[in-house]
Amino acid sequence: MEYPKVELHCHLDGAFPDRLFVRYCREDGLVPAGMSDEEWLADHVMNDTMTLSECMGLFGLLTGLLQTGERLEELAYEVLMDMYEAGTRLAELRFSPQSHINPELTMEDAVKAVLRGRQRALETHPDMVCGILLCMMNLGQNLGTVLNNTKTVELAAAYKDQGVVGIDLAGDEIATPIESYAEQFALARKLGVRYTIHAGEAGPASNVSFAISQNGGRIGHGIHAAEDDAVLDALVQNNILCEVSVTSNVYSRCVPSITEHPIRRMWDKGVMININTDDPGLMGIDLKHEYDVIAGMFGFTERDFILSNLYSARASFCEGKEDIIAALTKALHECA
Ligand SMILES: [Zn+2]
Repeated sequence: MEYPKVELHCHLDGAFPDRLFVRYCREDGLVPAGMSDEEWLADHVMNDTMTLSECMGLFGLLTGLLQTGERLEELAYEVLMDMYEAGTRLAELRFSPQSHINPELTMEDAVKAVLRGRQRALETHPDMVCGILLCMMNLGQNLGTVLNNTKTVELAAAYKDQGVVGIDLAGDEIATPIESYAEQFALARKLGVRYTIHAGEAGPASNVSFAISQNGGRIGHGIHAAEDDAVLDALVQNNILCEVSVTSNVYSRCVPSITEHPIRRMWDKGVMININTDDPGLMGIDLKHEYDVIAGMFGFTERDFILSNLYSARASFCEGKEDIIAALTKALHECA
C-alpha cells in the first residue's frame, strides 16, 4: 500500500549523497591521484567494524566539506530531493550551525543557507512538508559552546517563520550530563521554540527520564529506556515519540547487536516510534533499508508502519501537515 513516509531524525552532514561527497572531496583535493570514486567511497562508509575514532574522523571530514553557504544550500536541497524520491512527504532535517563557522561564515549565514536549500526543495515539490531543526551540541560546558548553544536557541526563534521548526541537543551524550542543558531548554520554552533531545542513545535510561521531564514531546533514539520498565511506562504516559534509527544504533554500538535492539519491546509496550535513517550517507543506507530491516528482523507489519508514520506526523514540529495526517489516517483504516 502507498502511504506518505515521515522522517524526523536525519542529520544533514550525515546524509551526503555519494555524488556530492565525491565531488566535494575532489574539489578539495582530498582524493589521492589515481583513486576511483568507488575506491574512495568504499573507504568512507561507516560499518559495524569501524572503530570509534574512525567514525569520529569520518564526521570530521564531512563537517570540513561543509564550510560554505553554497555547499550547505546545495546539500540541503539534494538531501530533501532524495528523501522525496524515497517516498518521504514530511521531513525534518537537522544540523548544527556552530559546526559550520569560519571567518567567512557565521551561524546565522549557515542557517540562511540551509533554509535556501529547503525553499528550493519546496518549490520543486510543493506537496512536501519540511522543516529544519537546529542542533545544540553536547561538547562540554566550556564558555564557547555554551554561548553557541544559546545562540542556536535564539536563531531558532528568529527563523521560526522561515522554516526552522525547532532545536535538538546532539553531540556526545555521555561527555557532559544532559541536565547541564536545562537552561537552554528553559530559554527555548520561553521563546516558543519546540525541541527534541538526543537521549538514551549511548547514554542511560536516566537521560531519557531527564528528556521526558523537559516535556518536548519527542526524544532522539531513547532506546536505553528499555533497560527500565518505569521509564518505558513514562514514555507512554507522557505521549513521547522516540525517533529510532536501528542501523545507526548498531553501527555506533549503542546496542551490542541488531538482534538485541529494543525496538520491538518498545513498540509492544506502546511507545510511539518514528523510523529514521539518522545518517544515511555516512552509513550507506536509505529509509527503505530501515523498513526492510524492521519488517524482517522485528516483524513489523504494514499496519505497524502506517501507525508509526501517523504518530510521527502528529509529533512533527512542522505546520501544514494536515493532508499527510489525513492520508495516513485513511491508509490505517484501509489496512485494518
Ligand atoms: Zn541523531
